[in-house]
Amino acid sequence: MSGETLQVYFLGTAGALPTTQRNPPCIMIRRGSDTILFDCGEGAQQQMMRSRCGFTVNAIFVTHWHADHFLGIFGLVQTMSFNGRTEPLVIYGPAWIAEFVAILRSVARFNLKFPIEGIELAKGSWVRYDGYTITAFAVNHGLPSLGYILEEDSRPGRFDREQAIALGVPPGPLFGKLQRGETIRVGTGETSHEVRPEQVMGPARPGRKIVYTGDTRAVHHGIRDIAHDADLLIHDATYDESEADRGAEFYHATAAQAGEAATLLNARTLVLIHTSSRYTDAQAHISDAKKTFTGPVLAPNDLDMIEVAFRD
Ligand SMILES: [Zn+2]
Ligand SMILES: [Zn+2]
Repeated sequence: MSGETLQVYFLGTAGALPTTQRNPPCIMIRRGSDTILFDCGEGAQQQMMRSRCGFTVNAIFVTHWHADHFLGIFGLVQTMSFNGRTEPLVIYGPAWIAEFVAILRSVARFNLKFPIEGIELAKGSWVRYDGYTITAFAVNHGLPSLGYILEEDSRPGRFDREQAIALGVPPGPLFGKLQRGETIRVGTGETSHEVRPEQVMGPARPGRKIVYTGDTRAVHHGIRDIAHDADLLIHDATYDESEADRGAEFYHATAAQAGEAATLLNARTLVLIHTSSRYTDAQAHISDAKKTFTGPVLAPNDLDMIEVAFRD
């Protein structure tokens, strides 16, 4: 369905260590009745309670196996069992997913009431959902690490009602047939003729697109083919410019580098997360990113929600 709402909840925006204000990374995406988690840091389930979104998670996509990105899964699985969940939970992630799921099953063995499946993804792997696809791409974090792209299917072009009438199509059910891609026949006798969808439909319009890098140094040209033109680019911005050396050393990005990535990838809006616990606010990060990216820059607080709109 092309008209679904698409909401991004920032349940955790901290980098590495939690603070009193920020939890480790967890991004919840709700599209229609689907709920997907990108990473699941410690305390994610309480953030889900605070956001009043419930626990009906379809799948969790883990970017990499640093503990700040997955510790929340243990508690969440316990609560799901306690609440009587019976539907399978699928956890996707890079190499070591099988070992992780074995540990998770072992920890949860007294109380696990539903199947958990672990599926390993690699650069270019994709998972298909109804109306959208999630694709993995490689990032640069010093260990096997993936970013994820959620991209909706393109939508049909706009229907040109006046043009349809000019071609002799009476308003009514035939409009719907043309909109669904069917060629129709109108008129009778000698005036009978075909009207094809491409005569009355504009070009296909893109769906919405969210790119989440997870932890990484600045993303590079190699992902431009698949990660371009995102409505939201959610990028590692662990450090501000005063700590650029640390970013390079620990395989993280600065906010300015996140801005460069947003420019490179032609993102519509840049979202900075994974802010190091050394900063009390993200104002310097936002200023840094605005020096390298002219579009909107956001540094969400925990529990902030962004609703992603269609471009047209
Ligand atoms: Zn991290
Ligand atoms: Zn990491």
